[in-house]
Amino acid sequence: MNFKNITVAGSGVLGYQIAFQTAFHGFNVSVYDLNEESLDKAKSKFATLSECYRKDLKATQAQLDDTFNRISYTSDLAAAVQDADLLIEAVPEDPQIKTAFYQQLAKVAPEKTIFATNSSTMLPSQFAEATGRPEKFLALHFANRIWRFNTAEVMGHASTDPAVFDALLAFAKSIGMLPLPVYKEQPGYILNSLLLPFVMAGLGLWANQVADPHVVDKTWMKAIGVPLGPFAIVDIIGITTAYNIAKLQADTTQNAELAQIAALLKSEFLDKGILGIPTGEGFYHYPNPAYESAEFLK
Ligand code: NAD
Repeated sequence: MNFKNITVAGSGVLGYQIAFQTAFHGFNVSVYDLNEESLDKAKSKFATLSECYRKDLKATQAQLDDTFNRISYTSDLAAAVQDADLLIEAVPEDPQIKTAFYQQLAKVAPEKTIFATNSSTMLPSQFAEATGRPEKFLALHFANRIWRFNTAEVMGHASTDPAVFDALLAFAKSIGMLPLPVYKEQPGYILNSLLLPFVMAGLGLWANQVADPHVVDKTWMKAIGVPLGPFAIVDIIGITTAYNIAKLQADTTQNAELAQIAALLKSEFLDKGILGIPTGEGFYHYPNPAYESAEFLK
């Protein structure tokens, strides 16, 4: 399978990053969003993003100019996919929006186009039927700030063609990602299957007054020899997201500890407008959090 023309649907937080990363690595990229206003927003963010590429990846002006020249924009779905080898979907994390999007897409996309969803919490099998081409549909999951945290988890569903799965792994590598094959459908892929229980275990120690957040982090950092503990990670993910996950899990499992975690995150943080790194304060103060100082582990 030869990929040349890539369409990115949805140009929000992740979509515009996927588009830029893909164009940076030499592919023609068509960015599709609902209206001109959303597309203009994405365009304006590319300028800031290119500074990150300059700083973090030592990108040259010529490379960045070429990247911009390879990106086109449209709010017409049929035009966006007319010659697409691959469409990467990054529309909102809402099953109804995604299903409606795939139903519409199925009507206008050429037969050759492979569809990949970047959904973080949903499974490809949920949308396989709506795509009208289940064998050419799978998940390609990126992480926020993809040029630095360049993981690409590739996960099919039961009917995904193995050749499509392999082609997506190769594509991920060709746009500078670390390709990570996931052989079975797994909610949360690999990363969140590890990270969420870990973070909730840390929050549980705090909610049950077993230990203070910084002490929990110190324990983990020193004993395992890593630079971040669970509370530093919560600040990075954002308190809002941590709360949403704890609340959803508490509501679906009736787990009392998760309910307590959610209640505390709300009363101690959300209600006070303290949201982690986005507001400069969470379990730590930014831009110079205590865990980055040499004194922290002494
Ligand atoms: P977002 O809300 O920032 O952006 C969504 C974009 O889709 C918006 O620009 C919106 O105008 C557009 N949109 C809405 N309906 C559309 C439609 N029918 N067709 C085309 N575009 C439409 O969302 P996001 O955070 O970028 O998340 C997008 C996807 O990426 C989700 O599935 C999410 O799970 C996944 N993801 C997000 C992150 C993250 O850190 N934000 C990380 C990994 C994966």
